[in-house]
Amino acid sequence: MKAPTSKLSSLQPEPLAAWAKEAINRAKSGQFPAYLPLLAQADREGFAVQIRAIDGQFFGFGSAEKTFPLMSVVKPFVLLYLLCELGETAVFDNVGCEPSELPFNSLNQLQTDKGKPRNPMINSGAIVLASLIPGENAVSRCQNLLEWLNERANSQLFVDELMLDSVNATPNQNNLDLALEMVESGYIQDSEIALETYNRVCCLAGTVTDLAKLGMLLVNSGDRAISEHSRTVKALMATCGLYQASGRFAVRVGLPTKSGVSGAILSVIPGEGAIGCYSPPLDKEGNSIGGLFLLEQIAKALRLSVFD
Ligand code: GLN
Repeated sequence: MKAPTSKLSSLQPEPLAAWAKEAINRAKSGQFPAYLPLLAQADREGFAVQIRAIDGQFFGFGSAEKTFPLMSVVKPFVLLYLLCELGETAVFDNVGCEPSELPFNSLNQLQTDKGKPRNPMINSGAIVLASLIPGENAVSRCQNLLEWLNERANSQLFVDELMLDSVNATPNQNNLDLALEMVESGYIQDSEIALETYNRVCCLAGTVTDLAKLGMLLVNSGDRAISEHSRTVKALMATCGLYQASGRFAVRVGLPTKSGVSGAILSVIPGEGAIGCYSPPLDKEGNSIGGLFLLEQIAKALRLSVFD
C-alpha cells in the first residue's frame, strides 16, 4: 500500500534555508536561562531543524548532529507514557488540564490552584508526573521512560550527564518550593525522588532527528495505547505547551507545540508529520525565538494550522 502523501513533502529547500537564516538572525536578541549555567553557554547562533512527513520523507537544515537536552519538551512524553502505563484517572487525579496564565515555574499559580498543578506542561505538573513514573529510584524511573520512548519512537535519546551534573550543582529553589507545596497539598509523597526524577528526565537529550521522531509518535505510532492517548497529549500541547503564549500561538500558527528552556521546540501536524527545531535563545516566556519564527513561516506557507 502506498503511504499517504503529506503537505510537508512539498516544502522546498530554498525557502526553508531562507527562513532558517532569518530565524538565526532574530534569535540573536534572545536570552538564556541564567539559572541553568550550562544552558547559558549555548551557541547563540546554533540552529537545527528536521521535518518528518507521514509518507516517510524527512529533511532539514542546520546542525543535524548537534545534541541538546529536551528540558520541558519531555513533558508531553512523560504524560503520554503515564497515560499508557497508568491510565487517565491516575494521571488527571493528580494534574489539571487547564491553560496557565503565569510563568512555567510559578509558585503563585500553584498556590492559586490550591496545590494541584494546573496542567502537565508547566513545572509543577511535570514534577507530579515524575513522581508517578514507575521505578524504585530516579535512575530506574528515567531509564524506564527512556527505553519506552526509544523503543517506540526509534529514537536514540540518552541522559546528558554533564547537563545533569550542572543542574544538580545549581539547586533550583523555585522547583523545590513547588515540590514542597505539593507535598503539603498531598499531591506528592516524596519531594526528593520527584525532583530527582524530574531533573533527570529534563536532561534526556538527542538531536532534532530524535525530536521529530518523538513527534511522530503522536502522529502515526501504530501502537494502540499511544494512538488512544495521543489526542489528549496533542490537545494539551496546543492549549498549554507554550505556557502563557499558547493562545497567541494557536491563533497565529495553530499547531500543537511544546518548548523547552534549552531552545528545543516540537510541533506536531496531525495527519501530516512533525517538526523538531533547536535554536537556544529564548523570549520572555521561555520559548525559542528562532523556533517560533520558523514554525510560523512553515505553517503559513503550507497552510498547516489545525484550525484551517
Ligand atoms: N528543567 C527546567 C526547569 O525546571 C525545565 C523548564 C523548561 O524547559 N521550561 O526549569
